[in-house]
Amino acid sequence: MRKVYFDHSATTAMDPKVVEAMLPFMSEKFGNPSSIHSFGREVKVALEEARESIAEFLKVRAADIYLTSGGTESDNMAIKGAAYQLKSKGKHIITSKVEHHAVLHTCEALEKEGFEVTYLAPDKYGMVHPETVAEAIRKDTILISIMHANNEVGAINSIDEIGKVARGKGVLFHCDAVQSFGKIPIDLSKLPVDLMSMSGHKIYGPKGVGILYIKKGVRLEKIIFGGEHERGRRPGTENIPGIIGLAKAVELRQSGMKKITKNVKKLRDMFYDKVMEKIPRVFLNGHPEQRLSGHLNLSFQGIEGEALLLSLDLKGVAASSGSACTSGSIDPSHVLSAMGVKPDLAQSSIRFTLGKDNTKEDVEYTLEILPEIVQRLRSMSAIE
Ligand code: PLP
Repeated sequence: MRKVYFDHSATTAMDPKVVEAMLPFMSEKFGNPSSIHSFGREVKVALEEARESIAEFLKVRAADIYLTSGGTESDNMAIKGAAYQLKSKGKHIITSKVEHHAVLHTCEALEKEGFEVTYLAPDKYGMVHPETVAEAIRKDTILISIMHANNEVGAINSIDEIGKVARGKGVLFHCDAVQSFGKIPIDLSKLPVDLMSMSGHKIYGPKGVGILYIKKGVRLEKIIFGGEHERGRRPGTENIPGIIGLAKAVELRQSGMKKITKNVKKLRDMFYDKVMEKIPRVFLNGHPEQRLSGHLNLSFQGIEGEALLLSLDLKGVAASSGSACTSGSIDPSHVLSAMGVKPDLAQSSIRFTLGKDNTKEDVEYTLEILPEIVQRLRSMSAIE
C-alpha cells in the first residue's frame, strides 16, 4: 500500500544531510561543551558555529540566540520569564484564542498565580489584527504574545504591525514562530519583536531542540535553575547532536526555502482544486491566500473528522484533525471555534499539511481514495 504523509505541521522526517551532520556528535565528538579539555573544546566550537549560522539566518547577533528543548520550552521561558520579571510593573498579558497550547496553557498557569490574561478573538480566517491588539492594551499590560503563523489553519499574522503597536506602547512582544520558521523569511533585524520561539522538527531537523531569540537588553526571570549554560539563562547540558542538526536544517532552508515553498503551494492548490471538483459540501478553513504554503484545513460536512482520519490512515494517508496535541479529544478545535466555525463543521475538519517530499503521485493517490471514503462515511453518518 502506498504511504502518504500529509502531516508536516505535526512533524517532519529529518533530511538525510541533517542526520549525516549529527552522527559524529553522537559518537566520536561526544565531549561536553562546558569541559575545558580538547574533547569539550572541539564540541564548544561546533556549538558556537551552529549558533552563528542560526543567527545569520535570522539576521541577529549570535549572542541573542538561546538553544532550548523545543518550541514549548521557548514559549514557557519567554512568557513566564517576562511575566515574573515584570510583575512589579503590571500583571496583564495579551494573547489570542488561537495560540498553540504551549502558549495558552502557560498563560492559564499564570492566571492561577494572579496574572490577568486577555485572549483576543481572531477574524474568520484565524488572523489576529493589530487594531484588536491595540484596543486591548492597558496601563498594566506587560506582555503581548501573538503567533506568526497558526498551526491548524496556517493563517499568517502581520507581526510587523503587531510589533509596532507593542513597541508604541512600550510593551514587550513575544511571537511563537514555530510554524513559520524556515517557511516564511524572518528578518529579526527589522521586525519589532523582543522574543521569538522556534523549533527544529517542523523544518526537517531533529525533535527536542528549539530556539528562543531574546533581543539584546530584554531581561527574563529564569524558570529553570542549574549551571551557567546558555549564558546562565537556560541551564542544562546542551543537546549537541540536536543543535548541530538544527543548524544544518536551517542551512538547507537558507538555500531551498523559496523553491520548496513554491512547489509545496503548487501541489497543495492542485489537491484543493481537485477535492472541490470531486467532492460536494467541502469548506476551506482559513484564508484563501494568506496562509502557509502547505496548509489545507478542510471541513467535510456531514462526517466526523476523526472517522475520516482513521479511514484515510487505513489506506496509508496520514493527515490530522485539529492540532496533533489535541487529537483524541472530542472537543472541536479551539482554533476553529474561535474563528466562528460552527461546531458540526469544526468536528468535520481535517488538516492536510504538505511538505517538500510530497509528490504529484501522493496527491493523485489521495484523490483516488478520498471521494469514496467521504461518500461511505456520509451514507453512514447521523450528522447532516
Ligand atoms: N507552537 C506552535 C505554533 C506549534 O505548532 C508547536 C508544535 O506543534 C509548538 C509551539 C511546540 O513546539 P515543540 O513541538 O517544538 O515543543
